[in-house]
Amino acid sequence: MHTDNKQVRVRFAPSPTGYLHVGGLRTALFNYLFARKHGGKFVLRIEDTDQKRSIPGALEKLTITLTEIGLHYDEGPDIGGDYGPYIQSQRTDIYEEYTQKLLDSGNAYHCFCSEERLNNLREEQRKRKRPPMYDGKCRDLSKDEVAYNLAQGMPFVIRLKYPKEGKTVFDDVVRDRVAIDNSMVDDQVLIKSDGFPTYHLASVVDDHLMKITHIIRGEEWLSSVPKHIFLYESFGWEAPVFVHLPLLLNADRSKLSKRQGDVSVESYLDKGYLPEVMLNFIALLGWHSADDRELYSLSELEEAFSLERINKAGAVFDTEKLNWMGGHYIRNLDVTYIADQSRRFFEEAGIDISDNDRYLKAINTARDYVYCLSDIVEHARMFFEELAFSEEDRDLIGQEDSQRIFSYWIEALGEKAQWEPEEISLLTKQSIGDLGIKGKNFYFPIRLALFGSCHGPDIPTLIDILGRDEALKRLEACVTR
Ligand code: GLU
Repeated sequence: MHTDNKQVRVRFAPSPTGYLHVGGLRTALFNYLFARKHGGKFVLRIEDTDQKRSIPGALEKLTITLTEIGLHYDEGPDIGGDYGPYIQSQRTDIYEEYTQKLLDSGNAYHCFCSEERLNNLREEQRKRKRPPMYDGKCRDLSKDEVAYNLAQGMPFVIRLKYPKEGKTVFDDVVRDRVAIDNSMVDDQVLIKSDGFPTYHLASVVDDHLMKITHIIRGEEWLSSVPKHIFLYESFGWEAPVFVHLPLLLNADRSKLSKRQGDVSVESYLDKGYLPEVMLNFIALLGWHSADDRELYSLSELEEAFSLERINKAGAVFDTEKLNWMGGHYIRNLDVTYIADQSRRFFEEAGIDISDNDRYLKAINTARDYVYCLSDIVEHARMFFEELAFSEEDRDLIGQEDSQRIFSYWIEALGEKAQWEPEEISLLTKQSIGDLGIKGKNFYFPIRLALFGSCHGPDIPTLIDILGRDEALKRLEACVTR
């Protein structure tokens, strides 16, 4: 589809905000998948022409996040490529050259209107409930007037001279045919008074020079397409294929916003949502396969993805589904991988996990209870730390039946150095019979002594994780008489 014989080239073009928005990750992922599916190239370009908003260190952070999540790009600021530089602030001379072409062909003009005049204009339009738009005052200044103003050193911007009549009609892979009245399209500022280009000019010029074949990005850019098409036409270039991804919504169907929860990918990774989970979950925000399958690895997505199956309707960022998926991956991926990914959380909590055998077994059990790895510490720390008992716990521990259970088990476990879980199972049954204590009267005290809580894994699992020596030590610590 739409790929003709040209090599597919797509780009992710974020502005450096200092974090990766989940919507940005979706854009990056869909571009990546489309490139992989068609043997094309995936380009990272940094759109930092809004100097006021540029955040130091943002590029480094972004490349770290993309790497951590596993979205490798083929060309980009840190790795280069044939179409660089890939940072827009390093391409200003290119934009200057193309702006001059637009001025020469009469498709752009100098605008000398003051900030104050523009503010008043906007205010008036707001009062009359009109969309804020430039009124065209400088559209038809004569060459002499422009030359005079420039000679006077008057500050100026350069605007697109967008046709006022008719409609602009274009095709979008997701939205089909889109028609926008030209009277609704503003004379977009292309070059700001600081000499920097706006996004619109810079991205069109770069998309062309970087030979981008498909523009896959969020729906919020759909209304800008007429301006971009006008730019392509003014330069005599062919426009790429447009693909606008549906909006991301909160559970209440409002536009996804920071106010209702996390929208930064880094914050999810920091909490220990696995990269696999984020990619799988994000892939389903606006795309689904013919059979509505839910679970995909990245390479399976590369295989299954197609632009035709992107929906028009907004996609709800459903945290319950994210957590379900998170738990599913944590329980089903290789336990050594989960253990490796979890390590930093134990280190942060200052828990000694140097006994690797115990660590792996503890993770294997604790992973049943969590959907992100930062939570796993709370379900595993009792295997490594000395148990802390409440007053109520001590009461139970001190009871005669509890003490009988502990003595029985200390003696039994002491009989040999190694115990298999099946043997512990048998011993459990046998001790229940021998002691004549059953149900919670048996399980609560012994679990409390071994695990620090009356509820939790079964006794064979607990002793298997702790090892016989540590289990003995814990039982002995509970002997009060
Ligand atoms: N810099 C724009 C953004 O951050 C890119 C939009 C586009 O992909 O054209 O959303």
